[in-house]
Amino acid sequence: MSRTDWEVVIGLEVHSQLNTQSKIFSGASIAFGAEPNVQACAVDIALPGVLPVLNKGAVERAIRFGLAIGATVAPKSVFARKNYFYPDLPKGYQISQFELPVVVGGHIDLLVPDGKGGAYEKRVNLTRAHLEEDAGKSLHEDFHGMTGIDLNRAGTPLLEIVSEPDMRSSAEAVAYARALHALVRWIGICDGNMQEGSFRCDANVSVRPVGQKEFGTRREIKNLNSFRFMQQAIDYEVQWQIATIEDGGRIQQATVLFDPDTGETRAMRSKEDAHDYRYFPDPDLLPLIIDREWIERARAALPELPEAKKQRFMTDFGLSPYDATTLTGSLEAAAFYEATVAVAGKAAAKPCANWVMVDLTARLNKEGKELTDSPVSPVQLGEL
Ligand code: ADP
Ligand code: MG
Repeated sequence: MSRTDWEVVIGLEVHSQLNTQSKIFSGASIAFGAEPNVQACAVDIALPGVLPVLNKGAVERAIRFGLAIGATVAPKSVFARKNYFYPDLPKGYQISQFELPVVVGGHIDLLVPDGKGGAYEKRVNLTRAHLEEDAGKSLHEDFHGMTGIDLNRAGTPLLEIVSEPDMRSSAEAVAYARALHALVRWIGICDGNMQEGSFRCDANVSVRPVGQKEFGTRREIKNLNSFRFMQQAIDYEVQWQIATIEDGGRIQQATVLFDPDTGETRAMRSKEDAHDYRYFPDPDLLPLIIDREWIERARAALPELPEAKKQRFMTDFGLSPYDATTLTGSLEAAAFYEATVAVAGKAAAKPCANWVMVDLTARLNKEGKELTDSPVSPVQLGEL
């Protein structure tokens, strides 16, 4: 039998915690690190008779995101109840959006490292992004055979960002996740803190023989909280799926967890389907109506976006696509670079790029510092 060549297919779901002051349907604080259960109000713990009130700031942030990725911001979207039982979900359902999400479509353009020192361009299309509330936390440690429940996180606003299954390698998935991470911080809707769970990625992974039209059966790797783990988890999962099929087995749709200690993924539960959740429109909430004016106000308030800045760095400063992409990898890097060129002059734009990306970054890395606490200021570097 001849050896099969396999193609990898990946789609990402990212839960991005919106940096509002209060929760999506109540006035309780969402600040991280408080004592358990002190930030859970009557709405969050679902006392009888309480009603949710939508946080305008959360909607504002969803609009900003939609505009930043060239998506359609839906003039009308609807909140729905996603029903399931879990101790950290007091209502017995999560308020989410299902049939009519607030953001539809859009795309993100990437430059993916090719592993040989170069990079290639890749567009990832987005399916949708919808607003929803987070659940509380179940604490399994420290309770000796019991589980503690902390409801501080219940009701925290999330934007769930769903991509099309457009990625074809772990490198592409990581490049996409990194670009998304930079974007939500750039437009000021999420702090991006992965340790604190503000930006959580689930990777849906399948394989198919090269040339086959239908997708293979996917498994969903849950809660990848670092880009390194994402790469490791996908690489392991891909070789596991290929080995399983080549051994004559079949992939069963499942939700799996990545164990960083072993570097392996293992099945957590068989995958539930949308119909298992008995979604229906939440009768406690009106449809979300977003008019043109609101969208235009949000558009006017957006900063210059990474893609536009990247193009400007290429045309105005003569930078390569790679340099321009790297320097627009974060708002801080772009601002530092622009301030340096403002002093050094346009003619020195290329050496400035090298100094910022190579020399300065290397020294900062060595001292464990971020660009934002660089002892060398952009003015000093520009003068030099
Ligand atoms: P669910 O809501 O059950 O997780 P979705 O249809 O919304 O399912 O898909 C979730 C994610 O899985 C999307 O990012 C999508 O691109 C991706 N996906 C769907 N089918 C596949 C597949 N066969 N292989 C890899 N990823 C897939
Ligand atoms: Mg899913």
